[in-house]
Amino acid sequence: MKHIKTILFGGSFDPIHNGHLRVGRAVLEELAADQMIFVPARRSPHKSHIPAGGHHRLAMIQRAITGSDKFSVSDCELNRGEPSYTLDTIYFFRKELGPEVDLTWLMGADQLADFDKWYRVEELLDICRVSVMYRAGYPKPDFDCFRGVFRPDQITRLEQGVVETPLIEVSSTEIRRQLAAGELCRDVLPESVIRYIQSHHLYGSPR
Ligand code: ATP
Repeated sequence: MKHIKTILFGGSFDPIHNGHLRVGRAVLEELAADQMIFVPARRSPHKSHIPAGGHHRLAMIQRAITGSDKFSVSDCELNRGEPSYTLDTIYFFRKELGPEVDLTWLMGADQLADFDKWYRVEELLDICRVSVMYRAGYPKPDFDCFRGVFRPDQITRLEQGVVETPLIEVSSTEIRRQLAAGELCRDVLPESVIRYIQSHHLYGSPR
């Protein structure tokens, strides 16, 4: 039976930006994966700001990935209660895609700061692969601080999962700030996402 290699790319995507798309493509290629599913969170347990409505973030992802046959998007976290726990998402996709699927949860190095506090994180490490990619402005992924917290075999798997992605200096926080200041962010947002933001007056963009 074929082990379909699937990468789950979770986050707020508030909004999705070219950094997400570029590292997503790089990881698909590097890991020789069959598909990548974007999974917008209803509300991340790690973020304090209130994101744009889930339907808007979903719609922007749909527009941004149009034409890429290996990218798709799932609304599974948007349809569940808050907060959005990654562990529940992994169990959801195991059921949805079948036991044979090879599942990888993808995240940037910025997420490592409180990774050991994630909901049932040791169970998460045992039921899927977790791949950590490089992120501009953050140290390259290092798991030494988790020695004694996670089992040695879990640390080894984390180390093996590191992907040296291109460093792209962009964040949704900065984009939201620029949009609120009236800038269009043409260099960091897909055109289709800019049009969506304008037509729905998101992030304080002008009416
Ligand atoms: P915010 O500024 O609101 O925190 P963000 O730009 O970090 O947003 P998220 O939607 O939180 O975007 O990111 C989803 C995932 O993508 C996270 O795992 C994050 O680490 C990763 N990521 C986001 N931007 C980049 C980037 N430029 N390079 C590498 N990884 C990124």
